[in-house]
Amino acid sequence: MKLADQGLFKTDGYIDGAWVQSVQAQTFDVLNPATGDKLASVADMGAVETRQAIEAADRAFGPWKSLIAKERANILRKWFDLILENQEDLAQLMTAEQGKPLAEARGEVIYGASFVEWFAEEGKRMYGDVIPSHGADKRITVLKQPIGVVAAITPWNFPNAMITRKVAPALAAGCTVVVKPGEDTPLSALALAELAERAGMPKGVFNVVTGCKANAAAIGGEMTSNPIVKKLSFTGSTPVGKLLMKQCADQVKKVSLELGGNAPFIVFDDADLDAAVAGAMASKYRNAGQTCVCANRLYVQAGVYDAFAAKLAEAVEKMQVGNGVDAGVTQGPLINEAAVTKVEGLVRDAQEKGATVVTGGARHALGGTFFQPTILTGVTGDMRIASEEIFGPVAPLYKFESEEEVIRAANDTPYGLAAYFYARDIGRVWRVSEGLEYGIVGINEGIISTEAAPFGGVKESGIGREGSKYGLDDFIEVKYLCLGGI
Ligand code: ADP
Repeated sequence: MKLADQGLFKTDGYIDGAWVQSVQAQTFDVLNPATGDKLASVADMGAVETRQAIEAADRAFGPWKSLIAKERANILRKWFDLILENQEDLAQLMTAEQGKPLAEARGEVIYGASFVEWFAEEGKRMYGDVIPSHGADKRITVLKQPIGVVAAITPWNFPNAMITRKVAPALAAGCTVVVKPGEDTPLSALALAELAERAGMPKGVFNVVTGCKANAAAIGGEMTSNPIVKKLSFTGSTPVGKLLMKQCADQVKKVSLELGGNAPFIVFDDADLDAAVAGAMASKYRNAGQTCVCANRLYVQAGVYDAFAAKLAEAVEKMQVGNGVDAGVTQGPLINEAAVTKVEGLVRDAQEKGATVVTGGARHALGGTFFQPTILTGVTGDMRIASEEIFGPVAPLYKFESEEEVIRAANDTPYGLAAYFYARDIGRVWRVSEGLEYGIVGINEGIISTEAAPFGGVKESGIGREGSKYGLDDFIEVKYLCLGGI
């Protein structure tokens, strides 16, 4: 494909500051989900290359952690500038391999870069502590030190930001990193590595190991069994997260996990309905519904149920489905055939159990992996769609009567990532905010992501927080020094 800077189109892995093929010179294909066309043949790596990358990161760790924070910050800042300067190429690459509309891809590049800027600054503020001591001849100090070599496994839905959100705090803290990007979207990851190199990132500090779906377990196996790796940071599905956590248990590696969600989106009788519809559109249909914070269950209080459903349908029917590079398109294809089959199955199951399709409900006439933006009403808790993460452009509407009932229903899930609700009564706003068992709550707000706030889940949605002043903690060990004999 054509980019303004063709140097950003990389197909080799990036290990120890060098662009390398897989040891057996094997490749896997990266497809454009909008057209089915092959975009690239990318290095298909496995355990051997992962070990090489981990060893390179280990060699780089000593010198990198020994830089003063400002020196690391300067390199990160340069990387941030280069990401922004190349926003258009990075967005084009992202839309080509991931499918999201170009406007969303451009937004993600800025969002992704914001973590690099944020942690370039935050790394300078990795303050320790001096603690009043427990003895007259003793002094207590606390040092914060980088945890060591970090392995990161990322998904395809945010090919840029899921990487920067892990890599930037890790690097700022003084760790070195090996990243395995999602197999559907390695090109965005490799372009980021190219820009890191141009920013002056020393060799071995940031490595990218690419591999096909079949090799993911081998790469993950090496990352979790190699004693050099001190920390695994994973974003992806809950089953794979649990598996990796089990694998890490053997060496008590630290883990950060950003897993699935089952976000409730609650509209109370006193809500501003137009604002609630705008929030639902943003939360539900962004990235064709393929985000872990997408509204997954829309609970609407009985008094406004019909009005909300009608307004939402009006907004959804204005959406334009198509190839993300075309002007005016607001919803691209789903990532692959497996994703469409899953969404189709969930809609069919809901219909069979009595749900009504208000709009959409099937594959789009464009074919391929395009799916119609869909609204279902009359959805109930016994349908699969109530407990499974949809990861597609389907909004199931549930009717509820009371606040207590909806809080109970909203919390009736093993997940706890994001929740949203719309209400104006201040007492209700406070009660519901406290009652929701979620790591993130959007109140009269459908878009909650920003580098300045802590992103992460409770229950089976994960461990740790990304972004904000808390984001650095995931990559730091606290060391207590007890100085006696004074
Ligand atoms: P999704 O359904 O979003 O693709 P996955 O959890 O399957 O979610 O994928 C997220 C990331 O985890 C991808 O980079 C994928 O290659 C990787 N992955 C999948 N299976 C494994 C595994 N067994 N070990 C390590 N990584 C894996």
